[in-house]
Order: sequence, then C-alpha cells, then structure tokens
Amino acid sequence: MATNIERDAVDPLGGQVAVVTGAARGIGEAIALRLARMGAEVVLTARDSARLTQVKAAIEEQAGKAMVLPCDLTDAAAVAALGERVREQCGRCDILVNNAGVGVLRKPLIDLAVEEWDQMMDTNLRAPYLMIRALAPMMVAARSGHIINISSLAGKNVLLEGAAYSASKWGLNGLTYSVAEELRQHNVRVSVIAPGSVNTGFGAPGSTKDRSRMVQPNDVAQVVAMLVTQAPTSFVSEVLLRPTTKP
Ligand code: NAP
Repeated sequence: MATNIERDAVDPLGGQVAVVTGAARGIGEAIALRLARMGAEVVLTARDSARLTQVKAAIEEQAGKAMVLPCDLTDAAAVAALGERVREQCGRCDILVNNAGVGVLRKPLIDLAVEEWDQMMDTNLRAPYLMIRALAPMMVAARSGHIINISSLAGKNVLLEGAAYSASKWGLNGLTYSVAEELRQHNVRVSVIAPGSVNTGFGAPGSTKDRSRMVQPNDVAQVVAMLVTQAPTSFVSEVLLRPTTKP
C-alpha cells in the first residue's frame, strides 16, 4: 500500500481547485497544464473559448481535470459572474493564478493612446483585484488558499518605451504585497512572480532576442508548482525569475 508520502508526491494537489487566468496560451497554458498534472481541477479562463477548449482537451488527454469558463477580465460584472460559477460548480477555490496580461511595448508614453493605457491597467492591475474580490472570500471562509500574481521584472525596473506596462506591473506588485498582509491573517498566502522576458507570443514583434535562451513558460509553471507546495508554515512572497544566460 502506498504511504502518505508516496501519494503526496504523485498527486500533491489532489482535490484542489485552481483558477488560472490567461490560460489560453503562453505562460497561463503552461501553468494550467502543470497544476492539472499535480492533481488540481483547473478552471481555465481567457476570452478565446476555442483555445481554452484545446487546452482543456490537452489536460484531459493526460487524465487531468479542467473546466472552461471564458471571460473578458476587463468586465467587472463578467468577473463577478465567473466567481459565482466557480462557487456553484466547484464549491471551493484553493489556488488563483492571476496571469492574464497585455503589453503595448516599444512605444513612447507620449504616443500611447488613452485606450491602450486603459487596456493595460484594466487587464494587468484591475483584473487581479476583481478576481481576488470574486474568489478570495471562499479562501477566507476555508482559512486556506494561495493567490499568485504574474508580474514582470518591468515591475521592478524601468522599461524604456513601456512606461504604462511597467506602471501596471509596479502597481500589481504593490497590490500583491498589501493584500498579502490583509489575507495572511486568514491563512491565505499571496505571492508574486516577476519574470524577465519569456518565450511566448507576448511582445514578440520587434524582439531580436535569442528565444531559446529566454525564460520558458514551463520555467514559470515550475515556480508556481514550487510556491503551491511550500510547507504550510511559511510562504515565498516574491520570486524574481531571470534566464540563466542572457538571451
Ligand atoms: P500571452 O501569450 O500574450 O497570453 C496572454 C493571455 O492573457 C492570453 O491567454 C489571453 O487570452 C489573456 N488575456 C489577455 N487579455 C485578456 C482579457 N481582457 N480577459 C481575459 N484574458 C485576457 O502572454 P504571456 O507571455 O503568456 O504573458 C502572461 C503574463 O506574464 C502576463 O501578465 C505578462 O505581462 C506576464 N509576463 C510576460 C513576459 C513575457 O516576456 N512573455 C515577461 C514577464 C511577464 P485571450 O486573448 O484569449 O483573452
């Protein structure tokens, strides 16, 4: 008979529900696949329901469990409805990964359209607030949960011709540190991962970097896996993730 230790190693997130935003592609897709492989039922959200269905199929091919709940995260009512669906259909939320993000890069701030500013702030900063508002109450009630926000090294440093994107990620870091203080009294952990350039379609046009030497989506997923399996008495509040050799 398998011991508890053996079972934990095989299925460390068995019975848990993880919600991943921006799960249609890139980093979010890698995180969703990883959490499903660790035994969680994964709620996949983004706007592109066809892509989400493909990610769900990939998870199910590996005998994992996934649910597709498409949502435009800039729509506050839609995010509240998503929270209700998770509550009704899953009855719990153990992990929330706020990963969805957009970036208008290589554009001086004075040339940036107001709509572009709003889209970045609404997706990168307001949506994590809306998602926390929708799902953290379940974690508080359960006195258990982990929220992981995907920020960027652009939220720790300056980003030439990316001021609004950088500001949205500096804001996300501030939101993370502060809400972590509010939620830790309820035994809920909030962490932020700030990667350097990751090999996805994000911000690809114009980049001359060697993509094979960039941080890979699975590297970010590996950090998420590490954070959610941390011993219960402590948590890693921030991870800065850099490529081993500069691309
Ligand atoms: P990506 O490949 O462009 O994927 C972005 C994801 O966000 C997609 O699934 C997209 O799905 C979703 N999304 C965008 N707007 C949305 C909205 N309004 N509502 C719902 N979903 C929305 O980007 P990525 O590289 O995986 O980036 C993921 C995160 O990592 C972002 O927060 C990004 O800022 C951060 N990051 C990326 C890099 C990098 O170099 N790639 C570096 C550091 C940090 P739909 O379009 O279907 O909605």
